[in-house]
Amino acid sequence: VASAQPESLSRLIERLMKLPSVGQKTATRLAYYLLRASREEALDLAQAIVDVRERIHACPECGNLTDLETCGLCTDEARDRKLLCVVEEAANILPVERSREFRGLYHVLGGVLSPLRGVSADDLRIPQLLERVRREGVQEVVIATSSNVEGEATAHYLQRLLKPQGVRVTRIAAGLPVGSDLEYADELTLGRALAGRRDM
Ligand SMILES: [Zn+2]
Repeated sequence: VASAQPESLSRLIERLMKLPSVGQKTATRLAYYLLRASREEALDLAQAIVDVRERIHACPECGNLTDLETCGLCTDEARDRKLLCVVEEAANILPVERSREFRGLYHVLGGVLSPLRGVSADDLRIPQLLERVRREGVQEVVIATSSNVEGEATAHYLQRLLKPQGVRVTRIAAGLPVGSDLEYADELTLGRALAGRRDM
């Protein structure tokens, strides 16, 4: 079968198949589409992939993804700098923003504590969180990790570290299905979960 197809075409199909939810059929269809598309359209796609890889990095302050030196949220003067929302991944920020329920800043952990997968506090942006809370005089930290076992354990770990610093620590209200990712939570549910946050 391989020899019936030019090598470069097979290679493109193989690469496309590595993308999430793309099987052989879809990959083949996409590859043939790109072959028929104008040279400009195909090269635009290739360039867009190169651009996100080369321009986007984590904001040194909050860990959000940005193509600026410091992200647009951190430099927004209208945001409440005394209020931080702790999320697992940068992808979790957008749904919280869409809920329009939060006007503070964010802190991306880069995952959750997981003894089973060998993820300890040193692997997450926890030291940076503590340093930031001290430096900025943060008054409240809202912990918005997932409501699964690892998300809850991480929330309690952070609460034990932050409470002695005199910071109010809150947890978004139940309402997210257990084990659900914030990334997939709808904005209405998320808005309610934020508005109904409770002291830990
Ligand atoms: Zn930032």
